[in-house]
Amino acid sequence: MRKTGVFYHDQVGQKAYKTLAMSVEEGFDALQKEGLLNLPNVTLFESKPVSEDLILTVHPQSVIDMVKSSGYFECSLYSIGSVLQATEQILKGNIDNALAIAGVGGHHASRTSFWGGCFFNIAAIAIQYARSNLGARKFAIVDTDTHHGDGTRQIFQDDEDVLHICFCWSNSDKGSKVCLPHCDSDSAFLQLIQNEVPYRLADFKPEMIYWVCGLDTHKDSYGTRRLTEDCYHKQAKILLEAADKVCQGRLLVKIGCNAPAHVSEYVLPRLVDVLAGLNKYPENK
Ligand SMILES: [Zn+2]
Ligand SMILES: [Zn+2]
Repeated sequence: MRKTGVFYHDQVGQKAYKTLAMSVEEGFDALQKEGLLNLPNVTLFESKPVSEDLILTVHPQSVIDMVKSSGYFECSLYSIGSVLQATEQILKGNIDNALAIAGVGGHHASRTSFWGGCFFNIAAIAIQYARSNLGARKFAIVDTDTHHGDGTRQIFQDDEDVLHICFCWSNSDKGSKVCLPHCDSDSAFLQLIQNEVPYRLADFKPEMIYWVCGLDTHKDSYGTRRLTEDCYHKQAKILLEAADKVCQGRLLVKIGCNAPAHVSEYVLPRLVDVLAGLNKYPENK
């Protein structure tokens, strides 16, 4: 049986970015209501806030000062904490995979600027930490949010040890830095992921995979895509199967619940269902 960690703190839900991280608390509450946090192979970890020193490994003090005046500093510290602790638990072998719940985005944050509900580049801070403290070097980031991960791309532009596969509006393939256009139906998008992602992961051989699971591709969210709530656990299955083949199933799902509540309430339990190998939901089979 797979061991799954869910990483969350009340501060992440309560202080989540108001317009974009739209239903963090509701998504987490659904995990509790559906009984997915009281299982022998699913552990709930209370996220801890990270220190400013850790943020300084990626961003200058001026960015920290700007975020402090934004009102989202505390939520950012706890959100980075979710992903950082999940990274640590996976790489130490205590769990196989994780759902890390964040109240802010990260992929629009470059080293010196940020926008679009992102403040610090969460994946970059976690990768920096993992490289310095956990003995891992090569990572893949699969970003299925509807928007281009411009901050992440900028930070890792010249880093050949990070594979960045970004689903957005453009189409470009520069080896370890790939952009692919989204599709507007579940079946076409799942086929695209199946065709484009597993073989790239197999060639690259990351030690761990980050999946930036944006829900703004849902038809009821603001991202102008047409995916339904049944698309996300199917994406999870493809990525988990690929992770099994290349990195012992080490998959970290980072989610900011950027969709209306009914979407997060449906999607999060089914993601944990796939991650933990429970097969509790008939539509997951
Ligand atoms: Zn987005
Ligand atoms: Zn892109």
